[in-house]
Amino acid sequence: MIKQIEIAVNPDQIDNTSLILKKLSSKLNVANEDIWDWKIARRSIDARGRRPLYRMKIDVYVEEHMPKATLPLSTMSNVNSCPEVVIIGAGPAGYFAAIEAIQLGLKPIILERGKGVQERRRDLKAIQQDGKVNPHSNYCFGEGGAGTYSDGKLYTRSHKRGNIQEILELLVAHGASTDILIDAHPHIGSNKLPKIISAMRETIEQYGGEVRFDHYVTDIIIENNKVTGVQCEGHEVLPATSVVLATGHSARDIYTLLDSKGVAMEAKDFALGVRIEHPQGYIDSTQYNQEVREDNLPAAAYRVATQVDDNGVFSFCMCPGGLIVPAATAPGELVVNGMSLSRRDSPFANSGFVTSISVEELAEHGYKGLYATLDFQRDVERTLFEAGDGSQKAPAQRAKDFVKGVVSPTLNDTSYIPGLWSAPMHELLPEFVYKRLRLGLLQIDKKMKGYLTNDANIVGTESRTSSPIRIPRDKETYQHPDIEGLYPCGEGAGYAGGILSAAIDGRNVVRKVLQQVSEKS
Ligand SMILES: Cc1cc2nc3c(=O)[nH]c(=O)nc-3n(C[C@H](O)[C@H](O)[C@H](O)COP(=O)(O)OP(=O)(O)OC[C@H]3O[C@@H](n4cnc5c(N)ncnc54)[C@H](O)[C@@H]3O)c2cc1C
Repeated sequence: MIKQIEIAVNPDQIDNTSLILKKLSSKLNVANEDIWDWKIARRSIDARGRRPLYRMKIDVYVEEHMPKATLPLSTMSNVNSCPEVVIIGAGPAGYFAAIEAIQLGLKPIILERGKGVQERRRDLKAIQQDGKVNPHSNYCFGEGGAGTYSDGKLYTRSHKRGNIQEILELLVAHGASTDILIDAHPHIGSNKLPKIISAMRETIEQYGGEVRFDHYVTDIIIENNKVTGVQCEGHEVLPATSVVLATGHSARDIYTLLDSKGVAMEAKDFALGVRIEHPQGYIDSTQYNQEVREDNLPAAAYRVATQVDDNGVFSFCMCPGGLIVPAATAPGELVVNGMSLSRRDSPFANSGFVTSISVEELAEHGYKGLYATLDFQRDVERTLFEAGDGSQKAPAQRAKDFVKGVVSPTLNDTSYIPGLWSAPMHELLPEFVYKRLRLGLLQIDKKMKGYLTNDANIVGTESRTSSPIRIPRDKETYQHPDIEGLYPCGEGAGYAGGILSAAIDGRNVVRKVLQQVSEKS
């Protein structure tokens, strides 16, 4: 008999297996010995009471054993001589598309402008220490895409679009901790992600797929409204009839390339704002109701949201115990984002604090047409860069000073390695963005007391929240409506917002490619 039982334990009891077994046997009214196996199916922290609790759903096997799990890669065979699918971009969408392709009997050829995870590290160091941004290798570009040196939170609302469990199991098969299969808010951490990403590449290559780094796609050859090939800088044209375009939200050159070829696209709403960095101790004390976080509790997370004049103002990609990182993809831009190591043990809690930006309202500010959102995004990033000293030092202001509109005489310590400079953020941000963030902070401070504090820094700018442009695709075939064989995919095409949803989209797109290939043959 298998039963799912819910129990709650104090944080100091989370590893006490005999206590857990006792609770299970008492709830089921069976002897301890009759429970042959048990497995946590779901684990979450409930911080609503005086002391936080771990709540767990546990599958209990009474007088029977738990079946052995089947490995997600066990059905794969070599695809070296199978029909090819060319995938542009080695981010989560691209890599999950490639593994799905192998599982379906297609040979994936991945073209990636950046370098492998190890080599990429050197370019990240150059951004952090010397402020030098390599336009092909940075926090967004290179093996694993923006997902590799990301925070690695694995959370999505796109449950209907695909099987999240299968994606998590694939990550576990490539080295992620099995904790991600049970945690309500799974997290990997940017110190663990690179190994997982290279293990995925090994799988792709082992089964006959190809991953080509330093392959910067400069043209997609289209003849009679059909894709016929892909041109990479310094390489011969690669013939291709099925091309998955998974280039991420920062590949601005891909949008201009497609536009120059007359491929229809549209501007899309997105969100823009700042990062806000608090001491982690403050977040722990408000979320856990404890002066000092007790052992066995992770650094606390939060999520805040409000409305200002019918516009959303909300936290985005919150990183407990994390670091703010420079996420520009070209020289002359200032972009910040957040990540954390698996232990989430830095003394800082940072989060995007952004407002939604609509295509319609940008028209009122003079930004119109296909590039309205992209131009606006770029203008903000450039303004903040140009106000500084030409390095990746980020403009910043203490949170209360930001609301008051006064430059901070000094700033708080920060996790941001290139450093901060005290800036009039209230003047550097577009006025309507500033006003909304300001009112948003004041409103949120009423819900989460102390959120608006001069112990927090506001750091600019968080502008790469999602793609500013959507590349349309047919609902049935997932191909661009006007171009046969072109499959817009993942975050850059406007169909994902995060690692999991990009992975789901990658898999879904490749299933559509298989349909097209099967129909043709
Ligand atoms: C610092 C940071 C932290 C983040 N934290 C999280 C998090 O905790 N959880 C979460 O869900 N999401 C997080 N994200 C967002 C997440 O990483 C993205 O949503 C996800 O990576 C999108 O996947 P993708 O495959 O669609 O695109 P990307 O990951 O952007 O990959 C696109 C790839 O295409 C390549 N490419 C672009 N142009 C070309 C070209 N012309 N030729 C060849 N290759 C090209 C790029 O080099 C890149 O490798 C974070 C992002 C950053 C930057």
